[in-house]
Amino acid sequence: MLSVKSLYKEYENQPLLEGVSFDIQKGETICLLGRSGSGKSTLLRIIAGIEAPESGDVYWNNQNLKDIPVHKRQFGFMFQDYALFPHKNVFENVAFGLKMQNLPFDLIEEKVNLVLDKVKMQKFRHRQVADLSGGEKQRVALARALAPEPRLLMLDEPLGALDRNLREQLMDELRLLLHESNIPAIYVTHDQEEAFTIGDRLVLLNEGRIIQNATPEDVYQNPKNAWVAKFIGLSNLLEGVIQSIQPLRVITKSGDFSIQTGLPKNVKLGDPVILLLRPDALTLNDEKMNQFQAHILDDVFLGNQWRVKLRMGDMEFSFLVDEPISIGSIIKISIDPKRINLLQAEK
Ligand code: ADP
Ligand code: MG
Repeated sequence: MLSVKSLYKEYENQPLLEGVSFDIQKGETICLLGRSGSGKSTLLRIIAGIEAPESGDVYWNNQNLKDIPVHKRQFGFMFQDYALFPHKNVFENVAFGLKMQNLPFDLIEEKVNLVLDKVKMQKFRHRQVADLSGGEKQRVALARALAPEPRLLMLDEPLGALDRNLREQLMDELRLLLHESNIPAIYVTHDQEEAFTIGDRLVLLNEGRIIQNATPEDVYQNPKNAWVAKFIGLSNLLEGVIQSIQPLRVITKSGDFSIQTGLPKNVKLGDPVILLLRPDALTLNDEKMNQFQAHILDDVFLGNQWRVKLRMGDMEFSFLVDEPISIGSIIKISIDPKRINLLQAEK
């Protein structure tokens, strides 16, 4: 439906977006994920037509939107700061876009009622927006974006201003609403938990480029590089060099590792690589492969598992294990060769 092709955008001769391309299918929610300042909001403004790229195009069902102005694109927007009218009531806020379209009042009322039911705000219809809580304002903002039945919905860090409890609750609600509405959506966030909860697909943006575009499962199982791994909270990374290919072995400062997962494309003997030891890679049994001595630094009970922090060589790692380990002890551990990802080293 939406197709973004080779966007290039710069500010003051500094490139911000370079060769950004991706598609969105019917009913799909994609999460655009990247650090603050990575150009996420700029990308949304380009898709909305508020801003023009230096080069590249945005298509809707194969139609180039270059000459289609903002208000004719039929895209809905929802911002972090809500952009609601504080002294108008809920109904008037939600009806605003519909009134701009000069629809008859009966139809406006029907559409507003429909979306207020959807976001469970019907009983607040006469309340002034200034008298609502953060979460309630958020629902009004969503209702307003949905009311004109946009063909694409863009949400720019919509939960960024809310406290943690409320965010978690609204995250689940938003996910259901987006799925039920069947409207394709781009959800921008810098929060990986939000992205994993809401996205059917994640698009990861770093230094102006899309680093990975895949399902949340795929990003988690096969992060494209060390930046992606770190960004999604996989932090057991260490540098190494390919020592042999068959069997696959890597030399690192913390010792040599046997690896039974795939070799990245174009990587050969002697190449630098990055190892990602997955959180569940640690075993306390006496395995034949990848045995190391570890100094246990910390052990935290998480409910059904323990998170153990340990030192191997001069590096620290953390793993999830099913049994407690005493802090301060020095023990033999094994790293499962099937739970190590091999990542291409950055150039
Ligand atoms: P994000 O939404 O990922 O935090 P933005 O798209 O808002 O990132 O901004 C990315 C960068 O582009 C920022 O460093 C910002 O200062 C710069 N920028 C955004 N808009 C303009 C503008 N109109 N003129 C100059 N620089 C801008
Ligand atoms: Mg932004």
